Amino acid sequence: MGLNIPKEDKYIIPIFIPHRGCKNDCVFCNQKRISGEQRNVTPQDVKKEIETWLKSFKNKDRKRQVAFFGGSFTGLEIEEQQEFLQAANQFIHTKEIDSIKLSTRPDYIDENILKLLKKYNVKCIELGVQSMDEEVLIASKRGHTSRDVVAASKLIRKHGFELGHQVMIGLPKSTKEKEIETIKKCIKLKPDVVRIYPVYVLKNSKLYDMTKDKEYIPLELEEAIERAKEVYKECVRNKINVIRIGLQTTEEINKKNEEILGPVCDNYKERILTNISRDYVLGKIKNKGKLKRIKLVVPKNTQNYVVGNNKSNITYFEEKLGLKLEVKGK
Ligand code: SF4
Repeated sequence: MGLNIPKEDKYIIPIFIPHRGCKNDCVFCNQKRISGEQRNVTPQDVKKEIETWLKSFKNKDRKRQVAFFGGSFTGLEIEEQQEFLQAANQFIHTKEIDSIKLSTRPDYIDENILKLLKKYNVKCIELGVQSMDEEVLIASKRGHTSRDVVAASKLIRKHGFELGHQVMIGLPKSTKEKEIETIKKCIKLKPDVVRIYPVYVLKNSKLYDMTKDKEYIPLELEEAIERAKEVYKECVRNKINVIRIGLQTTEEINKKNEEILGPVCDNYKERILTNISRDYVLGKIKNKGKLKRIKLVVPKNTQNYVVGNNKSNITYFEEKLGLKLEVKGK
């Protein structure tokens, strides 16, 4: 079955740099809330943070990566970038971590920046692509074009870095078709990893005001799942590793409250894989006449998704089609 379960196979040491280095103001951005981090991290904090994480890792054989998330790393002053990178790089020299990755904007990448990142052993650069549709980029006030994504992606690959793309589902003026088109254009640029984020509407963001003023309508959860599913399937078809669907789990972000609107959900991955599994079973029984019972043997790591969260697929087939679905893992 075509389930490529999203996974990160290394230990990740996340260092959140909220909104630092970014001169932009995307409509959906409230970076401090997303990162769950209210204070400014300093390069001095990075060392302590890495040491704390290292103590918690049990599996000695698993790779370890420091990841600078949350801001636009390469928009920081060069000296500050060097200080952060230096703090992480010393753990590469002592072989306590294996690599460094960071996320940034497509228009904050050039030859000089990449040379600097290379010097400090950065391995992977994740670009906030969000959309490859110009109308969506403008409506979201991204401040860059799809051409910037193409140019930055090619440059990143040319310099031998791993390339990551982050795309968003449900941006202003976006549609399911535009999101599929976006991921197809991304795939042509050969990203090593992809992240898929449904849009949440955060208080103190422009999108929050737009929502209150009815200029923007957040996606319903079911639609967000359907649209993210199509993007995910496109990645699977092209053997692209999807390392995350949905936002980083923090206590703040996963509570549906008045400060976060939209398709808030802490188990996108499970819901999407459950839906894909349901489609798979529907495909299997198509043109088979009226079946009463079907027994499926599936790989053990996909069994839960075929059954569905809270047995939702079992219930679906029983209630909608009068079909008893038995699932065995092998
Ligand atoms: S580029 Fe990133 S950090 Fe900057 S405003 Fe947009 S979402 Fe926020």
